[in-house]
Amino acid sequence: MYLPQEIIRKKRDGQELSAEEIQFFIQGVANNTVSEGQIAAFAMTIFFNEMTMDERIALTCAMRDSGMVINWDYMNFGGPIVDKHSTGGVGDVTSLMLGPMVAACGGFVPMISGRGLGHTGGTLDKLESIPGYNITPTNEVFGLVTKDAGVAIIGQTGDLAPADKRVYATRDITATVDNISLITASILSKKLAAGLESLVMDVKVGSGAFMPTYQASEELAKSIVAVANGAGTQTTAILTDMNQVLASSAGNAVEVREAVQFLTGEYRNPRLYEVTMALCAEMLVLGKLADTTEQARKQLDEVLENGKAAHCFGKMVAGLGGPVDFVANYDNYLEKAEIIKPVYAKETGVVSAMDTREIGMAVVGMGGGRRVATDVIDYAVGFDQFIRLGQVADENRPLAVIHARTEEQWQEAAEALQSAITVGGEYVETPDVYRQIRAEDI
Ligand code: URA
Repeated sequence: MYLPQEIIRKKRDGQELSAEEIQFFIQGVANNTVSEGQIAAFAMTIFFNEMTMDERIALTCAMRDSGMVINWDYMNFGGPIVDKHSTGGVGDVTSLMLGPMVAACGGFVPMISGRGLGHTGGTLDKLESIPGYNITPTNEVFGLVTKDAGVAIIGQTGDLAPADKRVYATRDITATVDNISLITASILSKKLAAGLESLVMDVKVGSGAFMPTYQASEELAKSIVAVANGAGTQTTAILTDMNQVLASSAGNAVEVREAVQFLTGEYRNPRLYEVTMALCAEMLVLGKLADTTEQARKQLDEVLENGKAAHCFGKMVAGLGGPVDFVANYDNYLEKAEIIKPVYAKETGVVSAMDTREIGMAVVGMGGGRRVATDVIDYAVGFDQFIRLGQVADENRPLAVIHARTEEQWQEAAEALQSAITVGGEYVETPDVYRQIRAEDI
C-alpha cells in the first residue's frame, strides 16, 4: 500500500521511484484520489530532480494506460500503423501532406492531432477551415477512414490518456511545463495510446521552437526516442529547423491551400518538401515499406507525381465529412479575408534572421490562433508567399502577403513582420534537417 505523500517525499529526497509507485500515483490522478496540490508537488520534485529513463518509461506507460488504449487488430489494416508527431512550429503544415503520402505508399496513419499552442499552429485548427470536416468522429469512423484512405487526422478524445490532461493542467499553472521528463511522458502517453507500431518525432530547433536551444531540442529528442522504444513503440526523432516559417504560408486556410498545392504539384516550397520527405521516408523505413531512405524517397516522389497522395488526402477529407471535390476545387471552399496585399521591407537587403515565435504570435494577433482556450479562430487570416532566409527583400519581393480582415489589422500585422524579419546583416545558412536520432544512437 502506497501513499501519494510518501511517493512525493521519496522523489523530493532524490531517490528513484519504482514503476509500481509511479503507477499508483498516476492511477490516483486518473481517479481523483490524488489532489491537485499533490500533482503540483510531484511535478515540482521532478522539475528539480529529473527522472531516470526507467522512471520516464513507467510514467509514460502509466499515463498511456490511464484511459483507452486503441488496439487496431480488429481492423486488419493490412499494413504498418505509423505516425508522426511534432513539437510544434509556425507554418508547419507537414502532417497534411505526410499522412496522405505515407498512406499512398502502403502505410496506415491514424493521426491524433492537437490545436495551436502559444505561437504554434495546430493541425486541427487548419483542418477545421475545411467546411464539414469533422475532427471528432466516432472510433468506428476513425478506423474506417484510416482503412479506406490510409490516413485519418482527428482530435484528441477525452478517453485517451486522461491522467495527462490533469497533470498538464496543473503543470500549466505551477511553472512545471518546461521539464524534459514531464514533456516526454506527456507527449508520448497521448501518442502511444493511439495504438501505433512506430512513430517519427519531429523535434524543432530554432527561434520558433518549443525548446530554447539546439542542445535542449536534442536532449528532448533523445529522451523521447529512449522512452518510446522502452515503452515498446519503435521510434526515431528528426531534428528540423524552425528558424524561419517552414511553409510559404502561416495561418489556417492559407496553409491548407498550400498543402493541397503541394500534393497536386501546383506549388512546392523546397524547405517544406525536404522536411516532409525526411519525416515520411523514416516512417516508410520504420514501417518496413522501404529498405533504405533513398528507396523511400523514390516511392514518395512517385506517389506525389502520379496523384496517389493527393487522392488519399481527398478521400480522407470526404470520409470525415468535407467536400468530395475538395482537392480539385479547394479555392471554392476555403474562406478568404477581405484584404490581401503584400508588405515590403523598410529597406532593401538579404533576409538574415526571423523571429519565428513573433511571426506565430502575429498570426494569433490577427485571430488565426487563440490567446485563451475559448477564443474562436478566424480561419481566413494569415500570411502567404513568405520570404525565406537568404532571399533579397526589395521593391519586387515583399516579406509576405498579408490576409487580413481590416486595414487596421493589416497594418498591425505589417509592423509585426517588419520587426520580426531582419533585413541586412550576416546571413548564416541553417540546414532544413539537422540530424536523426534512432534508438541505436543513444
Ligand atoms: N505538448 C504536450 O502535449 N505536453 C507537454 O508537456 C508539452 C507539449
